Amino acid sequence: MIQDIEPKHLYNEWKKNAVPKKSSAVVQFRGQDLLCRIDDNGLKFPSRAQFTEPDEAFTYLFELDGREYYLLFDENERALDGYSYRNIGLFRTEKPQELAYAAVSAWHLCSWYRSARYCGRCGEKLVHDVNERMMRCPKCGNMIFPRINPSVIVAVTHGDYLLLTKYANRPGAQRTALVAGFTEFAESFEQTVQREVMEEVGLKVKDLRYYRCQPWGISGNIMMGFWCRLDGDDDTIHLDNFELADGAWVSRKELQETFVNNGIALTAEMISEFAAGRDPYSLEKNK
Ligand SMILES: [Zn+2]
Repeated sequence: MIQDIEPKHLYNEWKKNAVPKKSSAVVQFRGQDLLCRIDDNGLKFPSRAQFTEPDEAFTYLFELDGREYYLLFDENERALDGYSYRNIGLFRTEKPQELAYAAVSAWHLCSWYRSARYCGRCGEKLVHDVNERMMRCPKCGNMIFPRINPSVIVAVTHGDYLLLTKYANRPGAQRTALVAGFTEFAESFEQTVQREVMEEVGLKVKDLRYYRCQPWGISGNIMMGFWCRLDGDDDTIHLDNFELADGAWVSRKELQETFVNNGIALTAEMISEFAAGRDPYSLEKNK
């Protein structure tokens, strides 16, 4: 998955009073486009030395591979030799993976900074806190932290079959999604799983097993991956046509022959684990 960059590590701790060095990486977006360079060695970020702005213009983001990353928040067009603006969707395909992960993680923070400019309580302009990555209201003291949306991805299994879905209103979408949705107020992740499966495909599930989770910076989500099994014998899918265009039970054999894991997304990893017989129910059965 995209966050699996070991032995490298993205250090997300806030650094108090951090000042960019000449070699620090600069992340700047115009709309959804990232200022970067892509050559034979892959993705590259510009350095602080290539910008004339004062240090105060740069907001500390994180450290990766011994290099600090800073956000240049404004959206003015920069003309840097060899660099251009590329849609942030590049994180799905560009290498090296740790830099693609840095790009999409920076996007997550940039999106949040864009929407955390004024106090939602009193309307005052917010200022950045010194000690934490947090926006603070100088008038009423309101504290706003980076927004991360909890959600679940659910692999619904029934023996040698896995339930795959296709999103509605997304042209070109393949039938390679799993049931997914956001956690609502007053519910646990397990309850989100039960509710989303019932809402999207009208099925009852049991034997939930947590798999892994994934930060998904493009939309600011943290996605919890769960396995579950159909509860009962009625496997009839009742599709929620507002959210889904298609839903079907796909056999392990068909997945083995057709499914390709892109190595980036939790959904793809879970489908590929099922295809390989490494879902928890197969593993428990074969123990
Ligand atoms: Zn306020």
